[in-house]
Amino acid sequence: MTSTQAPVSIRAEFPILGEMVGGHPLTYLDNAATTQKPRAVLRALMEYYTTANSNIGRGYYDLSRQATDCYESAREAVRRWLNARTADEIVFTRGTTDGMNLLAEVLGRRKVGVTDTVVITGMEHNSNFLPWRRLCERVGADLVVVATDDNGQVHLSDFVAALDNHPRTQIAAIGHVSNVLGSVAPVAEMVAEAHRRNVLTVVDGAQAAPHRPIDVQELDADFYCFSGHKVYGPMGIGVLYGKREYLHELPPYQVGGGTVKGVSYTERVAYVPVPARLEAGTPDVAGAVGLAAALAYVSSLGWDLVRRQDELLVRTAVEALREVPRVRVIGDPAGDPNGIVSFVVDGVHPYDVGGHLDRRGIAVRSGVHCASTFLDHLGLVGTVRMSFAVYNTVEEIERVRDALRTVAPGEWTRERPTTRFV
Ligand code: PMP
Repeated sequence: MTSTQAPVSIRAEFPILGEMVGGHPLTYLDNAATTQKPRAVLRALMEYYTTANSNIGRGYYDLSRQATDCYESAREAVRRWLNARTADEIVFTRGTTDGMNLLAEVLGRRKVGVTDTVVITGMEHNSNFLPWRRLCERVGADLVVVATDDNGQVHLSDFVAALDNHPRTQIAAIGHVSNVLGSVAPVAEMVAEAHRRNVLTVVDGAQAAPHRPIDVQELDADFYCFSGHKVYGPMGIGVLYGKREYLHELPPYQVGGGTVKGVSYTERVAYVPVPARLEAGTPDVAGAVGLAAALAYVSSLGWDLVRRQDELLVRTAVEALREVPRVRVIGDPAGDPNGIVSFVVDGVHPYDVGGHLDRRGIAVRSGVHCASTFLDHLGLVGTVRMSFAVYNTVEEIERVRDALRTVAPGEWTRERPTTRFV
């Protein structure tokens, strides 16, 4: 195993990585759940709150104009990051879940009616499943699921067959990268096939955005969502990209402050254009500023470094896990790495594995990862998931490998071997 430390300078930018947990150095390997924040993001939040904080777009005073400028500059930073055509294609949300609920509500309600179909894939996170399921239940539409193969891979031919078998499909909601296995859907091809059949495309980019450059013009998806907190930004801020022509025809999701041009008790309400129309109430301005700082941080590292680090860590983890008896890696995480490696230990419940690692200061996620339908398909009660960020090291993976050599069945395995937890 080659021992390559993530550049010390990267780790030094993340103060939390110096924490001790139960007498052990923190080994943080739950980055698919949320990443830690670099000093640049912490500084941006502090600076915003100490120099510019006020409500945006509402006050005719200097500080409010400054806050508005900060917010709109962050929107422009996201536009550049995604290579969207115009900044009004960028709507700030609370995260991917918020974006998907918004779309199911205002796009879904417009486009999907009784006897229509929405297509999703079998590897979706609940956040790109439940909003569409609820929409379909409400309007009497069908939800069709394109199952993955046994390795958790979505195949274009299965997607095309689903579209052809359901000619009344209006929307295809596609996960870009699985949060369980890190597998990648052939999104660009799926989008092209959907468009050939006049089907709108919504992409869940929550696990793709931290690991690969996203060019929405190249991808051509009609809508693309991601969460700031998984890309080194703050929690509570996310992005919904939508093509101008579709975004502009959407009605408000929530109504309230910031959404109307003028309103009376009797006349028809005149709403402002997007993006403000879809951002009712006081937005998370500091969150947007922090997200822009996070994107600038990733840009300063460069995608080459991010991808190299992903490849190194995922391949190293797969090799290291192979050395441990009874450990089985699920899927093919090293095929096209996205910082995720899921595994099971035969005879030991994932929760007991998680507890064993936790007692050594190692943070991993155990369970169904908000995707129990995918786990059902794979025939698993759950997995243990290591997920990496730019600051993780080979030494941390070795710590996991060494700890797994002594893992034994615990309380969950003995008492609730087939019970799940989320
Ligand atoms: N989709 C995927 C693939 C995810 O991994 C997650 C987060 N685990 C979400 C959606 C939901 O993201 P958030 O909780 O930030 O809204």
